Amino acid sequence: MTEMAWRPGRRVAIAGAGPGGISAALEMLRQGYDVRVFEKAPEPKPLGGAVLLSSPVLAVLRHYGVDVGPSFGSKTLVEFRNNKGKVRARLPFNEKVESALGIDGWHYGVLRATAFRKMLELLPDGVIVPDRAVSGYEDTSAGIRVVFENAAPVEADLLIGADGIRSKVSAQAFGDPGLFHVGLRVWLAWCEDWGGLDRSTGAITHARDVQASYFPMLHEGKPGWEWWIVEKSGETAEAPEDVEAHLRKRLSHFAAPLPAFAERTDFSTQVFRWEIYNRPSLTSWTTGRVACVGDAVHPVSPYAAYGMGMAIEDGYFLGRALGGCDLSDRAAVSKAFARYERERVSYVNHHVEFARKLGQQFHHAAAPVGILRDMVFDNTRVLEKLITKDYLADAEVMSLNLKELHVT
Ligand SMILES: Cc1cc2nc3c(=O)[nH]c(=O)nc-3n(C[C@H](O)[C@H](O)[C@H](O)COP(=O)(O)OP(=O)(O)OC[C@H]3O[C@@H](n4cnc5c(N)ncnc54)[C@H](O)[C@@H]3O)c2cc1C
Repeated sequence: MTEMAWRPGRRVAIAGAGPGGISAALEMLRQGYDVRVFEKAPEPKPLGGAVLLSSPVLAVLRHYGVDVGPSFGSKTLVEFRNNKGKVRARLPFNEKVESALGIDGWHYGVLRATAFRKMLELLPDGVIVPDRAVSGYEDTSAGIRVVFENAAPVEADLLIGADGIRSKVSAQAFGDPGLFHVGLRVWLAWCEDWGGLDRSTGAITHARDVQASYFPMLHEGKPGWEWWIVEKSGETAEAPEDVEAHLRKRLSHFAAPLPAFAERTDFSTQVFRWEIYNRPSLTSWTTGRVACVGDAVHPVSPYAAYGMGMAIEDGYFLGRALGGCDLSDRAAVSKAFARYERERVSYVNHHVEFARKLGQQFHHAAAPVGILRDMVFDNTRVLEKLITKDYLADAEVMSLNLKELHVT
């Protein structure tokens, strides 16, 4: 442990230095707590590739002190299209949200490493304690003892489980997560910009049961592209031996510009495979002196494109709910946890379940249903209505309620 303050009643231990853990740390520090983030890896390291972050997430990052100005990310209008390029839905912007948050548009493409580094830079030295694998905890009347695989236990007042999809903290608090493969895998890739493509728009593009998509992103102010493929997979499915040949073939079934991305991508360093696991939704994310954030309680399928964003929001909402209260006051902590759950659990569960449902509809519909689905999506505005109702509507309400983050 470092020499930084560790005062009884203010001690917050966080398991995991991913986006959720770092966000929780930043807000808890703002609220005047003494914070340690225990990370099992020798240094915090983001997953590879790029992410789409939405404007409420940018507003949270700005509140922490991250410069979310024009060089942070690439503003992106997101369209759903079929594989021939026909537009099926546009994700509309909400002008009220834009002006309240003072952020144009809704989605921004950013290289994950850049966003993550900018958050890490805001943490004072010594907050992150690397090489500490949390194995569990003991909730005692005096506080909480955090137990490690490879170091002596640490006494704290609160433990935040931000240790990802295979969270030890969440498993002890809420039992076996019952992880299941959702039947999908994602190949996530990125490449530098080569000029000539419209950089205002990203597209989520579907063939009968494969998705190939792209969006513009910025990396340290430099333009680039993220592209990805979503395809069927399974617990025992083998990955193709020649990944490059496999992905080129997939892209060849889609309209321009998708096939062109293969020509600019280094398949040995710029492509990541992601098998998608989910868990049944939990109705509670806190117990005693323990609260969880991010994938530890709600791993997300790619359709919401929002797992990193939701983990960042969770950390903010949890810190805001605690509001600087005395952590040795169990009644105050319970009240804060109840507020956190009220504000987050059903909102997030809805997004996770909607993402899973869309994934099923697009990739696992039997042939006649898939044909009918494509006819309806190609010729009506049903898809746009679905997304507006089930993805955007409550995110907009949440954004309008985050008054302390508003600029107007
Ligand atoms: C390929 C890919 C693409 C994605 N695309 C997007 C996207 O476009 N937009 C989006 O918003 N989200 C996206 N996501 C989802 C997003 O990355 C996750 O939802 C997000 O990283 C969750 O953050 P987290 O902090 O909860 O967990 P994690 O990022 O998993 O971080 C957990 C941390 O805890 C550490 N840890 C684990 N166990 C222990 C332990 N026992 N003790 C101490 N430390 C431990 C880990 O080393 C890690 O640092 C994507 C994910 C993947 C894999």
